[in-house]
Amino acid sequence: MDDAGSAQDPILDFDPDALRERYRQEREKRLRADGEAQYIEVAGSFARYAEEDPYADPSFTRAPLTDEVEVAIIGGGFSGLLAAARLREAGVDDFRIIEAGGDFGGTWYWNRYPGAQCDIESYCYLPLLEELGYIPKEKYSYVGEIFEHSQRIGRAYGLYDVACFQTRVNQLSWDEGLKRWRIQTNRGDDMKARFVIMALGTASRAKLPGIPGIETFEGHSFHTSRWDYGYTGGDTTGGLTGLNDKRVAVIGTGATAIQCVPFVGKYAQHLYVFQRTPSSVDLRGNKPTEPAWAQSLQPGWQRARRHNFADIVEGRPFTEDLVNDSWTDIFRNLASGIAAAMARGEKLTPQEAAKKAELADFAKMNKIRARVDEVVKNPDAAEALKPWYRQFCKRPTFNDEFLPTFNRPNVTLVDVSESKGVERITKSGVVANGVEYPVDCIIYASGFEISTAFRRRIGFDINGRGGLSLYDYYKDGFRTLHGHSSRNFPNWFYIGVGQNGLSVNMTAMFDDQARHIAYIIQEAKARGAVTVEPTAEAEEAWVEVIRSVAIANRDFQNACTPGYYNNEGGERSGGLNGQTYTPGINKFNALLAEWREKGDLAGLELRTE
Ligand code: NDP
Repeated sequence: MDDAGSAQDPILDFDPDALRERYRQEREKRLRADGEAQYIEVAGSFARYAEEDPYADPSFTRAPLTDEVEVAIIGGGFSGLLAAARLREAGVDDFRIIEAGGDFGGTWYWNRYPGAQCDIESYCYLPLLEELGYIPKEKYSYVGEIFEHSQRIGRAYGLYDVACFQTRVNQLSWDEGLKRWRIQTNRGDDMKARFVIMALGTASRAKLPGIPGIETFEGHSFHTSRWDYGYTGGDTTGGLTGLNDKRVAVIGTGATAIQCVPFVGKYAQHLYVFQRTPSSVDLRGNKPTEPAWAQSLQPGWQRARRHNFADIVEGRPFTEDLVNDSWTDIFRNLASGIAAAMARGEKLTPQEAAKKAELADFAKMNKIRARVDEVVKNPDAAEALKPWYRQFCKRPTFNDEFLPTFNRPNVTLVDVSESKGVERITKSGVVANGVEYPVDCIIYASGFEISTAFRRRIGFDINGRGGLSLYDYYKDGFRTLHGHSSRNFPNWFYIGVGQNGLSVNMTAMFDDQARHIAYIIQEAKARGAVTVEPTAEAEEAWVEVIRSVAIANRDFQNACTPGYYNNEGGERSGGLNGQTYTPGINKFNALLAEWREKGDLAGLELRTE
């Protein structure tokens, strides 16, 4: 590694043992016996928090569909759009996109809260930039531009003609007689498809905190993924004047709250932010795109940039940091002690390397905590806003307005860590630490079904050959070949997180998965196959690969403060990351590229009748 400034040992101006102990205590303080069960599924009497679509035409109707397509793509967010685009490029045109929203965009269709912004550099994050000849306006795009980009993809690839919007899948079942998937929806459809691509995204189902009394609140309330501009006024860029005379509670301080709290704080009469675990909030430093830089880009630039970003965030050697932002700074830091040792010609054991990374992690988190002290004037609030855990115990966040919001006289931080969350909700307020805070509105920034049971995350039944439920098949964890398909579920493909290379840059990860699946479908068709699915041996072998690489990561997660990365501190499977291919996205993509290169579809069983 010859990146300037990275080959340095961190300055040891702290006591690592004391930090380890503090992290342990902070984890213990937040562990709850009910783990994932503390969250309420947004269903039944809570359904309104996620099922109402503020953007679509409520009077929309259409006749039920009973026709057949070659490929049904479930989901019209970036992963579904990428699946469609890559299918078109592979010459597969007979497909349909089934989407619950009234337009494309997925997460960016639903999450239109004020300040919503991609937190990975937009030149890496927004898909198909080169294909569409589009350069984002800023280094980190806001939701308006991202949503428009998803519409741009829809238009460019002719996807509006094949979209079934405002349609939710209720059930997916394999019909062995027909050798087709049957897709039942909330619109009475019974569609058939030869292939199905699941492209539901990783955070498509909102969840609520199971706070006692939540159902008794008589004021206004909504989840951030269904921002109620009718109530707050304004739009994604601000102007929330409807809150001028309102006392507002925001519950949660994850990546979403970090972005929307500055806007609520600016407009609300009073804002109470209820925080259980502080986020690590690093610099954002957004800036407009430089036209000269944009013009200098050469063909292949986006793929190269994504590859470079992934190399850095996976701790691999690199010669240049193209993105050069707070994400890459974290990883350059983590690798700095290791790089310094290597530069001195030292050979490190994995344990020694892990120790060096831990020291660099402590040093970086000390900087994050020091930043809180620099910005937040109230010492109690500053103390409470400091995160005491390792980077990547939770998703790091980046924002330049969140911390200063706590210097406003109309904003109060309420630390609910001692009670492991908000104590209670009454008909007129939120109770924490024995004090009732009367509020007119509660905004739940409480996140999504990301690591809860797979059935909860997907939201509908999937039955394969012989009626086998996917959820029964996965009861001890995913069972896939390369994360994309499973035995007994013919012609069924999954885009998302699970037994594949995980990237913080999700859209790049989805793109490579989409290309790979399009290749398999194209090949299956070309070889006259009626069905394609993994062999039992190949699937088992891949599950073993995943088990063998997941262990180190699991140890890391089990020492972390609870959250969706580690099943709320549970040890069931090592959490969201416990089942992924830990050598990383670039290694995983290289492995799949080599697999495609061989051309023998190894590990897949193709049946021609
Ligand atoms: P998170 O799950 O990250 O945050 C939920 C918040 O609610 C946490 O702070 C949690 O505290 C808090 N909470 C839960 N239960 C309670 C309770 N009983 N009392 C008090 N607080 C409670 O959800 P987000 O929507 O913020 O983010 C989800 C993910 O979406 C992100 O991690 C990121 O991957 C993605 N995202 C990406 C963005 C981007 O820019 N690309 C922007 C926003 C989100 P605790 O931590 O203690 O559990």
